[in-house]
Amino acid sequence: MKLKKSYRNNLNKLFIFKTADSFQIEAVFFRGNTLCISTQIGCPVGCKFCASGNKGFFRNLTTEEIIAQYVILKDLLEISGIAIAGIGEPSSNFKNVSNAIEFFKEKQLKVTITTTGFDTENFKNLLKTKHDGITLSIHGFTKDVRKKLFKKPFELKKTVAIFESHIKEITKTQRKKYQVGYLLLRDVNNHKEELLKLSDFTSKYNLTVMLMMYNKIDTGNFSPVSPKEYEEIFRFLRKKNIRVTLSNRFRTNSLGGCGTLTIDRK
Ligand code: SF4
Repeated sequence: MKLKKSYRNNLNKLFIFKTADSFQIEAVFFRGNTLCISTQIGCPVGCKFCASGNKGFFRNLTTEEIIAQYVILKDLLEISGIAIAGIGEPSSNFKNVSNAIEFFKEKQLKVTITTTGFDTENFKNLLKTKHDGITLSIHGFTKDVRKKLFKKPFELKKTVAIFESHIKEITKTQRKKYQVGYLLLRDVNNHKEELLKLSDFTSKYNLTVMLMMYNKIDTGNFSPVSPKEYEEIFRFLRKKNIRVTLSNRFRTNSLGGCGTLTIDRK
């Protein structure tokens, strides 16, 4: 795999890699220390609000290709953390992702993972890897909402059951490494019913909510909530004593922000 091109702005650096079979994937260096890497070419989950899965799914990246994103850039950047949160769903490429996690941990890198838990069998195994934090992306609890979010809405029940049984087995301190990702979309999942389900689920296990702002992409008819509503929802969750992390400027950035990575950038 080769580095094809890079872009930068005042916050993020985006890198496009070309694979030996001429596909493209992307990685983003953000926060001045973390490299967000891809694990697949396209994504089988196909969230309608995300540019990564909108072109379909082509293949898994090999362990070498996952690691190469770090190896190629390590002498150019001060990388101390790897975020497995770029193009692809890590549970769908578990074997190669877990090999890569082993490699990164041997290099003393901090490794965090973002997953929908799409491949439930492997989600179980992903939770047990030597990660430093997992964000379970839920974004919607009811069938109606999930239909609007995913091309092929998958059952949340099994994913949640696996997550809950894992959380019950670990200590309260270890639980601090787990959070629930919730992308706020106007007129889709910003209403009371969904937000109450989110607060019930996270309070039950004292989990943090990562409340995300939507980055507009070309496809899909979604809109972000207003900054005022975002703050109101933040306050609503805080009143229920839920810890909330907010979308930071790196994640909402026009270059390499969450959900904007793609396999066909020119
Ligand atoms: S948000 Fe994640 S799981 Fe959904 S399509 Fe994008 S890369 Fe895949």
